[in-house]
Amino acid sequence: MSLQVEIEKHSGFCGGVIRAISRAEKFLEEHSGGKLYSLGAIVHNEAELQRLGGKGLVTIDKEELLNIPTPSSETLLIRAHGEPPQTYSLASKLGLTVIDCTCPVVLRLQKSIRQAYERLKPTGGQLIIFGKIGHAEVLGLLGQVDGDAVVIENIGMLRSALVDGTIRTDCPVEIFSQTTKSPVEYSQICKVLSESLRQAQRPLRTETCGGEAVHGQASLTVHNTICSQVASRHEELA
Ligand code: SF4
Repeated sequence: MSLQVEIEKHSGFCGGVIRAISRAEKFLEEHSGGKLYSLGAIVHNEAELQRLGGKGLVTIDKEELLNIPTPSSETLLIRAHGEPPQTYSLASKLGLTVIDCTCPVVLRLQKSIRQAYERLKPTGGQLIIFGKIGHAEVLGLLGQVDGDAVVIENIGMLRSALVDGTIRTDCPVEIFSQTTKSPVEYSQICKVLSESLRQAQRPLRTETCGGEAVHGQASLTVHNTICSQVASRHEELA
């Protein structure tokens, strides 16, 4: 029996990962025989990690970061997922040189979350992130707002958070998505959230991106923050 394998046209590493890998390779070429520490795997692909490991890329976790011998003469790569501000402070305290490969799309999302937080603070509003709890990108996002956001992984978690009051329906709410989540699921989540706020029978405004929240009123601002490269993959797979 023969098996035909079709390679999806959007498959392969995304732009953010390709950029991080090429910056790592450039550094290792310029520092022949040296090493470059990567905080977390630069890519989720064993063969590629082995190839880069052969050139001097050393993948470490947060605990190992604290135990790098002579950190002031070493370099740390921040991968495309990004990191919370605390990681940069720690690297600076240790004397590490940092190559920041945070994907520009993630950097924009981090900035947008910080701005939303500043907007919401005076109104008592809430930030919601649709993403995977504990995922590096989500930790990086939470770090932008001192952890003051509710993370939901799916509709079930959203419903529970609405029932137990973790997500309130009497204040402005702004929702963001981790860049790699499913656009269809995000849209369903936003729909349920919008409906719940509407049913709470308070004045409701729904906006897409950048709307001003009003004190004492429920409102929902949906930020379209799924990476377009990821969105097109989901479309192909649908
Ligand atoms: S935002 Fe998109 S391009 Fe950037 S790292 Fe994530 S998936 Fe890759």
